Amino acid sequence: TAGGESYTYQSDIARLMRVVVSHLYHDRDVFVRELLSNANDALEKVRLIALTDPSILEPAEQLNVTVLADKDSGRIVIRDSGVGMSKEQLAANLGTIARSGTSEFLENLEKGDGGNLIGQFGLGFYSSFLVADRVTVASKTADDTEQWVFESEANADGFKIVKDPRGPTLGRGTEITLYLKPDAADEYLDLPKLRYLIQKHAEYNAAPIYLWSSASLDPSVNAVPVVEAEDDEIKVEDEATAVEQPQWDLVNDRPPLWMRDSKDVTEEEYENFYMKTFDSPDAPLAWAHFKGDAGTTSFRALVYIPSALPNDFYSKDYISLNSLKLFVKRVFITSDLGPNYLERHMNWIKVFIDVDDLPLNVGRDSLQKTKALAQIKKNLQKRVYDLFAQIASQDPSKYAELYEKAGVALKVGAVEDAKNRDRIVKLLRFTTSAQENSTSLDEVVARRKQGQTQIYYIAGAGQKKDSLEKSPFVERILARGYEVLYFTDPIDEMVINSVPTYGGLRFQDVAKDGVKFGDEDDDEKKEEEDLKSTFAPLVGYLKKELAEFVDKVTISTRLTTSPCLVTAGTYGYSGNMERLLAAQNQ
Ligand code: ADP
Ligand code: MG
Repeated sequence: TAGGESYTYQSDIARLMRVVVSHLYHDRDVFVRELLSNANDALEKVRLIALTDPSILEPAEQLNVTVLADKDSGRIVIRDSGVGMSKEQLAANLGTIARSGTSEFLENLEKGDGGNLIGQFGLGFYSSFLVADRVTVASKTADDTEQWVFESEANADGFKIVKDPRGPTLGRGTEITLYLKPDAADEYLDLPKLRYLIQKHAEYNAAPIYLWSSASLDPSVNAVPVVEAEDDEIKVEDEATAVEQPQWDLVNDRPPLWMRDSKDVTEEEYENFYMKTFDSPDAPLAWAHFKGDAGTTSFRALVYIPSALPNDFYSKDYISLNSLKLFVKRVFITSDLGPNYLERHMNWIKVFIDVDDLPLNVGRDSLQKTKALAQIKKNLQKRVYDLFAQIASQDPSKYAELYEKAGVALKVGAVEDAKNRDRIVKLLRFTTSAQENSTSLDEVVARRKQGQTQIYYIAGAGQKKDSLEKSPFVERILARGYEVLYFTDPIDEMVINSVPTYGGLRFQDVAKDGVKFGDEDDDEKKEEEDLKSTFAPLVGYLKKELAEFVDKVTISTRLTTSPCLVTAGTYGYSGNMERLLAAQNQ
């Protein structure tokens, strides 16, 4: 078949190709990753279709990728049994750039890190030209009866598309042949290196990848057919000879990370998986990997605690990006289940879910409302709190670091998430008179004195510990040797309003009525009675004079050095709360 149709590249592409090739010379290993990821994408599309229309798959069909390194001809041939491309798709997908942002790409390229950019900007295919002078892509879709070949050379201004003279050899799928540059041939036809690169990038490729090298084979067995163009002629070089599966060497013989038992995954693998999946430059702080049941189906999941919260997390316009991956039966479905799949205060945790069965013929909103996903959500949230608790007990200094960033989010959770409140409150930390570091409520309860029925706190929005501990309200309590919590965080008091008791002790604002000590003895009570009757006239006088301003006037034993105090009633707003409310109403 001579000629075929010639096309000119979209204006930017020829230029981009040249820039890519000249800039990424030292990064040229990336072609393995990019071509395998395209093959994997194509296989995923088949599996996605098969979830709702199983007829696309032949019975017992293997979805796989094969990589052939042919030393004799200096070629690498990558074949997949994915969706394939029609003639029009070959031209559109490989001859134009779908994503805009060419100038952004070029700018970033100047700054370095082109190897990662190339995939992000939808230029993955062009990485072929880092190692090849010439590339052919034969492809066939399930519906097509014909197979087409895209052909282009490095530095060319255009490409050609011809009908494959071998006929439809592929059944369904794509075959990319790289005609390696001489130096690249030396480097990549060396089997250990190619094998290493495939393994390195295979983590995400759910499909098996087989590698085969001509060098290791009986020369009587022919290589897979490759198409050679000469003077606009395409001729078939070798007759097709099927290579039997057992001679191919399975490279990624391990299931994807999340399908493995957690004891078969290293820390580094978990970290790399996180950074790749959620596009993060930093390693995560902690993670949990588990299986669970959700009604009629089961799932596997990973929850990761990032090393930091997004900068705008506490702003009201915050939306979590890139925080979720939902797979069904190993097939990626979506990274968007709406802005609040997890509760708002948890919306910085990264979650990966692979469900065995979900109704897929529904839109995102209905999908999110499915019973299974609702149950999974509950399970995930519980796991996150468990993970926090585990860090708190096993590695307190790591917990302190985590709490520094996420403490306020947890307190919001304690206020808003009634179902998990008990779990969350255990995780909270408060500034205390008892020790330098902040304390858990369990520790406060453990330190309680004989007869103590209250946990004392002073609300001091915005004020630091050193000014709160000088408050006259606190004096008497400290003098008696009791612990006082300093609510230095404005939200602390809201937490206590939703959690009135802890460990059998009632929270008591020391600036309000109702402070009781467990150690008052009878003498003290008697003394108090005496004082009351002695000062009854004064109290009566003050009550009359101050009737407009106060509810009541009483004699108190709460002070040691200050003569008098104005306090808020047990059921009134505290001074602090009034300041908060006033600020909100402005
Ligand atoms: P991206 O993968 O980001 O879209 P690429 O340059 O890697 O960008 O690929 C461009 C497009 O070419 C893909 O989106 C896909 O439609 C098509 N394509 C590439 N390789 C294959 C393949 N092996 N099978 C089917 N389609 C492919
Ligand atoms: Mg790609």
